[in-house]
Amino acid sequence: MTVSKFSPAPRLAETRMHSCGVAGHIQHQRSLVEQFDGSWKPSVCPACRWQALNNTPKDQDEYRNALAEDMAEDLNAALLATGITPRFRNCSFATYLTDGDRAKQRALNICRGYAEGFEQHAKDGRALMLLGEIGCGKTHLACAILQHIVRHEGKTGLIVTAESITQAVTDSFRSNAGPSKSELIAELTGVDLLVIDEVGFHTPKPGKDFTPSLLHEVIDARYQRVLPSVLVSNQTKDSLHEFIGPRAVDRLRENGGLLAPFTWVSARAGGAV
Ligand SMILES: [Zn+2]
Repeated sequence: MTVSKFSPAPRLAETRMHSCGVAGHIQHQRSLVEQFDGSWKPSVCPACRWQALNNTPKDQDEYRNALAEDMAEDLNAALLATGITPRFRNCSFATYLTDGDRAKQRALNICRGYAEGFEQHAKDGRALMLLGEIGCGKTHLACAILQHIVRHEGKTGLIVTAESITQAVTDSFRSNAGPSKSELIAELTGVDLLVIDEVGFHTPKPGKDFTPSLLHEVIDARYQRVLPSVLVSNQTKDSLHEFIGPRAVDRLRENGGLLAPFTWVSARAGGAV
């Protein structure tokens, strides 16, 4: 199995051989499995799980519990694979505070609407741009969108910073050990929703910085496959072209592309909070 550059698998700890005690079940590697909420959960005997799912009547608790555990493990893996860092794992639409501010409420409504209408947006390949000042909760709402589509729509998602894409491709040029540039782009186009965060944080160096053309390539690759992207930036819609190229901006705006403006004074600016 190819190890993903961007989507982490659940980490394992305290792995050791274990016997469940059921006659006929061989010892298995028992580990503590990392959970999205920060806790660790012991893995179960694969033979016990198989037995409960396949040889138990479906009206029994043993079957229902095993099925619920199985689905919870899949959801946990899908949530961790989004790359949402522990800092942003509690971020939902419910935990985004608007303080009665109309501009904040509008940004929240646009993001929640995008998540709740994702099935149609995905069919149309419709993008969403979250643009505005640093510290206004853009990443919070982008992570809320991702969590929603994974938890409630059964979709796959990923959040990466523009810098991490550049770094991964730079690494691929320096070493033959890791994935190639085309494999990295294939990974970024392999998820139902890609969020590119922190676009425009670094001023491009003319003639030297390949980030804008690389971001264009990623956005265009998803556009060609009618896959939606969410772009998060502290730039305005008029300056964004310097960081992703003018054609990528057109791609994001096409087919009713949405824009959530974060235009109020930042919570981090001026020491207000
Ligand atoms: Zn067992």
